[in-house]
Amino acid sequence: MHTLVMKGKDALKKGAELINVGEVVAFPTETVYGLGADAFNDAAVKKIFEAKGRPSDNPLIVHIADDSRLHELVTDVSEEAKIVMKTFMPGPITVIMKKSDIVPLCVTAGLDTVGIRMPSNETARAFIKECGTPVAAPSANRSTHISPTSAADVFEDMNGRIPLIIDGGDSQVGIESTILDMSTDVPTILRPGAITAEMLARVLGAVKTFSGKVVVAKAPGMKYKHYAPACETVVAKDAESAIAAYDTAEGEGHTPVIIATSGTCGLLENRTHIDLGSSDEEICRNIYAALHRAEKIADFIICEHLGDSGICGSVMNRVMKSAGGKVV
Ligand code: AMP
Ligand code: MG
Repeated sequence: MHTLVMKGKDALKKGAELINVGEVVAFPTETVYGLGADAFNDAAVKKIFEAKGRPSDNPLIVHIADDSRLHELVTDVSEEAKIVMKTFMPGPITVIMKKSDIVPLCVTAGLDTVGIRMPSNETARAFIKECGTPVAAPSANRSTHISPTSAADVFEDMNGRIPLIIDGGDSQVGIESTILDMSTDVPTILRPGAITAEMLARVLGAVKTFSGKVVVAKAPGMKYKHYAPACETVVAKDAESAIAAYDTAEGEGHTPVIIATSGTCGLLENRTHIDLGSSDEEICRNIYAALHRAEKIADFIICEHLGDSGICGSVMNRVMKSAGGKVV
């Protein structure tokens, strides 16, 4: 299959045409690029799983352009869910609610709940509107690989596997949406993101952050390996351990690289490194592009520990998974 990469109005029109004949299209969002299909078309949704090589028990998120389609998709919107949606949507958050009968089980991986997201990215919303149907989508990477934050990243994983990539430039947020389960008594964060627990607690009073063991695959990265670069990756607890790990790896004949904040990069002398920037937002926006670049130029990736709370806490949630939890 030939994979087109297109920009602008024509891309949206072509994308919507493909969605409406049951094809799969990659599109930009503020979090990461998505791999979309008509949420009501079983055969189209199955193509997403095929293109990604994704296990079918990992659910997809249903993307909407505005709240006009919301009530078709869920059975009941609680007062708390209304508050969350009013405060944070459109934006980088997915809200899990009880699904209605018309949402196919292949979208929700057999669950009786559905994840709803309204992206803030204008291209994403214009595309979904043009499709005239809710768009089911996971991230547009091959299963277990790093999530794409540019059309070029998508092309690398999906060339020949899908008919079209809509190029909307770099993703502004850079990591996947916060997933908030509102189908249970206490709202629970299943996956941290740029909308943090602190931000949610401010409007909800309390949210549970995810802890404990999972039996059903409720959120990504709990059951499967995720966000993994092509080579060994470790987290260094500080600049000193990053340098030590680098020098050891180099001594053993590896080609290491350090991914770190600007402050730390200033201490690395002529060791190969990738600068994530300084602010939380910059670090979040740059992390996946950095991992993509790192796996190309090195065979051993050392990422500095970036913090435990706020946006950097969410970034570290992904990096820890990239590293398979390995800290040096
Ligand atoms: P991705 O961001 O590529 O991993 O794809 C969407 C993710 O949203 C899935 O991995 C799910 O874990 C999460 N998700 C979607 N729907 C649900 C749901 N009903 N319950 C829990 N998590 C969900
Ligand atoms: Mg993903």
